[in-house]
Amino acid sequence: MSKIGMKTPLVEIDGDEMTRVIWGMIKERLLEPFIDLNCEYYDLSLENRDATGDEVTFDAARAIKKYGVGVKCATITLDQNDVQTRGLKKCWPTPNGSIRAFLDGTVFRKSIIASNLPPGVRSWKKPITIGRHAYGDIFKNNEQLLPGPGKLEVTYTPNGGQPVVLDCGAVEGATLMTVHRNLESSVRSFARACANVAIDEKIDLWFGCKDTISKIYHGRFREIFKEEVEAREADFAKAGVRYLADLLIDDAIARSVRHEGGFLWACMNYEGDLMSDMVGSGFGSLGMMTSVLVSPGGQYEFEAAHGTVTRHYERHLQGEQTSTNPTATLYAWTGGLAKRGELDETPELTRFAHAIETSLIETIEAGIATGDLIAGSQPRIEKSVSTEAFLEAIEKRLSEKV
Ligand code: NAP
Ligand code: MG
Repeated sequence: MSKIGMKTPLVEIDGDEMTRVIWGMIKERLLEPFIDLNCEYYDLSLENRDATGDEVTFDAARAIKKYGVGVKCATITLDQNDVQTRGLKKCWPTPNGSIRAFLDGTVFRKSIIASNLPPGVRSWKKPITIGRHAYGDIFKNNEQLLPGPGKLEVTYTPNGGQPVVLDCGAVEGATLMTVHRNLESSVRSFARACANVAIDEKIDLWFGCKDTISKIYHGRFREIFKEEVEAREADFAKAGVRYLADLLIDDAIARSVRHEGGFLWACMNYEGDLMSDMVGSGFGSLGMMTSVLVSPGGQYEFEAAHGTVTRHYERHLQGEQTSTNPTATLYAWTGGLAKRGELDETPELTRFAHAIETSLIETIEAGIATGDLIAGSQPRIEKSVSTEAFLEAIEKRLSEKV
């Protein structure tokens, strides 16, 4: 059998711990036997990020900008303690944050569903995609503890201009304070990316915020969001989908659990962080949630929404076989390959990527699944299999298809 070719390189970004192990297994079992893989490889393992002074992360981001499509394995996010305990040069920033900032992208997360894994929320029938504006708000704040009574002012000095003082009023006692901000241009890119994804995938677009309370901050956010989606009104109509840009965030949450799903929920940064965990767990397992970063320039980076699954990796290092779910990592690969096929006009590559996805879902529906899926399965799957056995079962089905 001749292997499927690839015209343009796919940017392959390797990572850490259990997901790195799974990464290798996926390539060996499901990709290399069928595809003449044309990948440009970047090793974002912690060791290599430290060795290269994190340059490798920016090289990878530049490669995605150049080629248009990347696929990324989960990576360890450091905290200050790690610098000492792991003997690193520095507390390197999270690669996801660096790549996202470089590409000015928006992250979309979606659950993968199978008929024997009913969602925790009874009304959900179709996946809910969360679009998180991954910039600003509490993630780009300045905060202080103010020790006692006083007066609070915030000064803004425009470049070349005179200071403008915003009077925040009296501080009555020991006080917790924060200043949030967001860039209008970033909100605009976010809204455009959301409109693109909704129109592309032919799903309704929802946006909710709290502008009844935060009339300027949330108010302006909504205004920009609406301007951008309204500019695509004709495309929404052509795709036969709607945008609901006037929801209050509370109403959006309440509606989301009564709805059958199948929509894109555009969220501000903090809400998106929370809602993607809520929706992910509601649909079953973290191991079943995919994530794609879409940039306004039309670049894509696919990955799993979960982390490096450290607890399983510790067991793996002790020689135990683990039942870690490779689904979301595999979908990162299939998402990247399918997109590569679409952009390169090599439909056989896209078809093959979809064949892997179908083989995976059929495997789960045949009652072969990893440990995380057992509790929620219906009819109940009695016994879980190891990651390797799961991938082997997928390979068997796939071989029959191609
Ligand atoms: P995690 O890797 O997502 O895992 C948390 C727990 O969720 C696991 O211990 C496991 O629960 C369950 N789980 C997650 N993925 C699973 C899968 N594929 N199959 C089965 N169970 C799965 O989060 P973490 O342990 O908090 O973070 C580990 C490292 O990953 C940290 O360094 C973190 O910063 C990093 N991280 C990276 C990314 C990224 O690169 N995109 C995202 C998030 C976190 P049980 O142990 O109960 O089985
Ligand atoms: Mg979160």
